[in-house]
Amino acid sequence: MDMKVSRRQFFKICASGLGGSSLAMLGFSTETALAEVRTFKLARTTETRNTCPYCAVGCGIIMYGLGDKAKNAKAEIIHIEGDPDHPVNRGTLCPKGAGLLDFIHSQSRLKYPEVREPGAKEWKRISWEEALTRIAKHMKTDRDKNFIAKNADGQTVNRWLSTGFLAASASSNETGYLTHKIVRNLGIVAFDNQARV
Ligand code: SF4
Repeated sequence: MDMKVSRRQFFKICASGLGGSSLAMLGFSTETALAEVRTFKLARTTETRNTCPYCAVGCGIIMYGLGDKAKNAKAEIIHIEGDPDHPVNRGTLCPKGAGLLDFIHSQSRLKYPEVREPGAKEWKRISWEEALTRIAKHMKTDRDKNFIAKNADGQTVNRWLSTGFLAASASSNETGYLTHKIVRNLGIVAFDNQARV
């Protein structure tokens, strides 16, 4: 776009630029002032390190929460930023990671396991123990019913085609290795990662 600047506007722009740089020269650095505001905002918070849950990059984050984790203190995360000590992102975050605070406080965020029974319209909350037991039972029933040990030519194939597995992208190498071993040992072929979703 062709932007025309009048002689009067030109002098105004120069004057404001000079004002800003002169203030800095006199010791009124805006950078220092902004850094102080940030320190004040985070002064009474507790830091918790975590990993961004969105993609396979697995950037490190620091979550700043109100409260000192005492039982009677209401904890609330008020700020999230990239972890400067993390080897993956060195303090940076992409726009998705930079918006994590909204994700955490979203009304529709799922915070616990839920189940919708066959024929039911509503989801109901269950414990992690119940959720894991249910998943294990469903897996066993399905595997017993559909496992293919040999193909039509009598060759051993050990396939389980009726269940798939979606792994997490922010896991450690060790967790990824173990997940892969377990899933392939069960015979699951449909195996993918959250990073590709
Ligand atoms: S901050 Fe961005 S690049 Fe990093 S893990 Fe999150 S979504 Fe991926």
